[in-house]
Amino acid sequence: MRSHRVQILFLLISIFFSGVVSANEGSIAFTGAMIIDGTDAAPLADGVLVITDGRVRSIGPASEVSIPADAERVDVGGKAIMPGMVNAHGHVGDTLGLETGHYSRENVLDQLGLYARYGITTVLSLGGDEAPGFQVRNEQYHAGLDRARLYVAGSVVNGDNLPEIRSQLNANADFGADFIKTRIDSELGQLPTLAPEVFQSLMDLAASRRLPVAVHIYYLEDARMVLEAGAEIIAHSVRDLEVDRDFIELMIENDACYIPTMMRDVSTFVYESEPEFFSDPFFLAEADPAVIAGLSTPEYRSSIRNSPASQQYKTDLPNALVNVGLLHEAGVRVAMGTDTGPPARFQGYFEHEELRMMVDAGMSPADAIRAATGVAAECIGQSEIGTLEPGNWGDFIVLDGNPAEDIANTRLIDSVWIAGNRVPR
Ligand SMILES: [Zn+2]
Repeated sequence: MRSHRVQILFLLISIFFSGVVSANEGSIAFTGAMIIDGTDAAPLADGVLVITDGRVRSIGPASEVSIPADAERVDVGGKAIMPGMVNAHGHVGDTLGLETGHYSRENVLDQLGLYARYGITTVLSLGGDEAPGFQVRNEQYHAGLDRARLYVAGSVVNGDNLPEIRSQLNANADFGADFIKTRIDSELGQLPTLAPEVFQSLMDLAASRRLPVAVHIYYLEDARMVLEAGAEIIAHSVRDLEVDRDFIELMIENDACYIPTMMRDVSTFVYESEPEFFSDPFFLAEADPAVIAGLSTPEYRSSIRNSPASQQYKTDLPNALVNVGLLHEAGVRVAMGTDTGPPARFQGYFEHEELRMMVDAGMSPADAIRAATGVAAECIGQSEIGTLEPGNWGDFIVLDGNPAEDIANTRLIDSVWIAGNRVPR
């Protein structure tokens, strides 16, 4: 009798959960769109994309793809489809308005919803991740998902001695971090930084825990040092100098990825006067008027104008653009990342601005799209996202314009889909 009740209970629980997690059980076929799949392949002119149980079942020209008889059909004729974007350097869950220190499950989920509405369907959070973020990461492997996917680094590993670094790194690894994030940067002389021998030990320890390391750098010399120690991800631009042949060769040797985060630098000085984007409807659609007001006071503007650090970042930004061009040209993998999440770095909106800057730096729109999709997914070690290939998650954006013709067309969002679920507006 008792075991019978338990069985019934399990049956009820499984019915309940199957209803929750399989919102899109069955197939959906998107027809008539130009499709960019996130690989090197040429776009499909009249493509069909079939999603079954949250994943890509088939993709190809209309003449070659057979649509299951019971599939729901969505006519997207005249539109473009591209994979959902992957932000390879963000931060999630800590900021509320212009304040930090508000980390919570609710805030993590709210911000993942915001990213998703802008077409950013995956975020690698490089630091500041607490238990609720790990939990949210663990809950995303199902076909009912309709917010951005999250990967986490835990706390930023930092300190001036090895025992401290070992205990921080092991704590993150034990907790299930996807990445180790550390910084080799004095923030223009304000913070202590890691000595090369300590950094090498950090790399060895991370390798023993089978975790890749993303490094915050500013100076070319530091970036070279971390590559020599085996770093896989350069998490910001080299900003003091133009990269040289040596550095480029090290990047290629390590098969390392470079994440420019140019909008991070823009955010350090742009509020010294009214930024152009404060009148962009695409920004205003999601922006909090109180945050805009807070960034627009005369006191705040003058604090930015009078901050030597802000002015230094502004002066050095052109180096960042030159370096993106040089590295991309040399065949280094450049991945889209923005460092959004901290106050005044607008999640979702800044990613589109970053793409525009990548094109300004010399990448073609098609290359910038690759950087934000297939390449970014590779760089963060996730093989089931970033490209619309059979078996991958059905994460994509339907656009009212071709982004490979004009990168600004990534803003013309018709709808965003995650695991084949339409992201709520
Ligand atoms: Zn960051």
